[in-house]
Amino acid sequence: MAFIGSECHPFVKTGGLGDVMYALPRELVKQNCDVRVILPRYACIPQKYQDKMVYRGEFYMDLGETGRSYYVGIMEYIWDGVVYDFIDNQEFFSAGNPYVGLVEDIPKYCFFSKAALAALNYMNWIPDIIHCHDWQAALVPVFQKTLFHDSPVGRAKSVLTIHNLRFQGIYNIPTIRYWTGLPAEVFNMGALQQAWRDANMLKGGLAYADRITTVSNTYAWEIQTPEYGEKLEDHLRYHSYKLRGIVNGIDYGMWNPATDPALAVNYDITNVLERKPQNKLALQKELGLVEDEGKLVVGLISRLTNQKGLDLVNAIVPQIMDGNTQVVVLGTGDKEYEDTFRYYENAYKGMFSACIQYDESRAHRIYAGADVLLVPSRFEPCGLTQLNAMHYGTLPIVRETGGLKDTVEPYNVFNGGGNGFTFDRYDAGLLLDAINRAKTEYFTSRYHWDEVVQRDMAKDVSWTNSARQYKDLYLELTPW
Ligand code: ADP
Repeated sequence: MAFIGSECHPFVKTGGLGDVMYALPRELVKQNCDVRVILPRYACIPQKYQDKMVYRGEFYMDLGETGRSYYVGIMEYIWDGVVYDFIDNQEFFSAGNPYVGLVEDIPKYCFFSKAALAALNYMNWIPDIIHCHDWQAALVPVFQKTLFHDSPVGRAKSVLTIHNLRFQGIYNIPTIRYWTGLPAEVFNMGALQQAWRDANMLKGGLAYADRITTVSNTYAWEIQTPEYGEKLEDHLRYHSYKLRGIVNGIDYGMWNPATDPALAVNYDITNVLERKPQNKLALQKELGLVEDEGKLVVGLISRLTNQKGLDLVNAIVPQIMDGNTQVVVLGTGDKEYEDTFRYYENAYKGMFSACIQYDESRAHRIYAGADVLLVPSRFEPCGLTQLNAMHYGTLPIVRETGGLKDTVEPYNVFNGGGNGFTFDRYDAGLLLDAINRAKTEYFTSRYHWDEVVQRDMAKDVSWTNSARQYKDLYLELTPW
C-alpha cells in the first residue's frame, strides 16, 4: 500500500501526524505488508537524510489551468523495509517550514497530491490501497476517481485518515480549479463546495474516499456533532457508514522505562514500586521541589493551548495545593497560560514547578517521576500523553472525550479495576473531584493504587494492536 501525507518523523514533523506516518508503516512491514510512503521533498529535511536519498526518476506533469508543465523528481530512501519516495520540486518545496500560509500551501498540496499519484503510475507500482492523511493529501481520492480514473492508480482503494479536523484546506473555487484542473462536477455541495464560493479539500476527500478513519472511536462519533464537527458534522454524518476510529499507539522503542536513557533509574513492572519513588526524588531534586517521596506529584505535559483544558487546571490550583501535593507543568504555548503557571510557581515555592519549555528528555523524567498526569482536554482526537503515562506507571486523570475516553478506563473503587481517574463534563469542579478521588486512593489505599500502576504498565498501548486494525480495514477493501 502507499501512504501519502505531508509529514513524517524523523524527516519532518510538526505534530501527531508525523508520528503516525513513521510508526504505522514500520509496523505494517513487520506484519508482512509492502509499504511505500510518499512525501514532499522539503528543503528543511535534515541533510543527513537528504544525503541518503537516491535518484529514482523524473517526469513532467501538467497541472490544472496553469498551462505549464511541472518537474516531478522522485528521490528514494529505503529504511527498515519501508520505501520512502520524496517528490522533488524546488518551486513548491523549498520554503523553510512545511506549512507557510494558505496562499502558498493550497497550490503546494494540489501539486503534491497529483504528483504522488502520477509518480505511482510512473514507477508502475500500483498499490491495492492508498492511505492518505489530513487535508494536505485529501485530494488524492478525488484525483483518483476523476483525472486518474482510467489510469492504473485509479483502481486502488483509498482510505483517508483525519488527524486534525480543524484544518481543512479551504479556498475559493476558482483558485482550487486553477491549481487542480478537476472537473466542474466535483465542485458541488456533496463534494468540495462549501458555503457559496469556497472549496474545501478535506470535504471533497471525505466524499470520494472508500473509507474514512480518525484516531479514536469516540472522536469518530463526536465529530458528527456540532460541538466537535468543525462545520463538517452533516457531511460526516452523511458518510458515517464508511467512518471508523482506530486509536494510535506509542513507539515502544522510544518509550520504555526499562531502557530509557533519560531516567535516573530504569524500571519495569517487577520493580516499579521500589524504583518509581527514586525517579520521583530525582525529579524533585532536578526541579528544586521539596524532596519527599511521600508527596503526590501531579504532572502536566502539554502544548499550552485552549484545546488542552488548562483553564480548568488554572481555576483549581489553589484547591489542589494541600501541603502533600506537588504540581509539575511542562509546556509552551499561549502567554496567558505560561504566565499563570509562572505565577503559581512563585506562589507555591518548592511545591509547584512551571517548566515553560519544550524538553523531550525532561518529559520522560516527568512521566517516570510523577504519580498522576492531568489531561483534561476540551477535545482530544487521540492523545498520546495518557498512553505514555500509563506505560510509565503514572495514572492518568482525563476528561472523557475522544481518545482519552477510549484508552483510560475509570478506576472502580468497588472492584479495583480500571486505569485512571476520569470526569465527563468540561467543568473545573469535576476535574477537582477527580483529583480528590485520586488523592484519596493514593493516601489511604496504596495497595489498590499499586495494583493500578502495575496494570497500566502491562496494558498494551503499542502500535502492533492498532496496525492490526488498519490491516483488517485494508483487507476488507481488497477481498480478493
Ligand atoms: P498534541 O499532538 O495535540 O500536541 P498529543 O498528546 O497527541 O498532543 O502528543 C503530545 C506529545 O508531545 C507527547 O508525546 C508529549 O510527551 C509531547 N510534548 C508535549 N509538550 C511537550 C513539552 N513541552 N516538552 C516535551 N514533550 C512535549
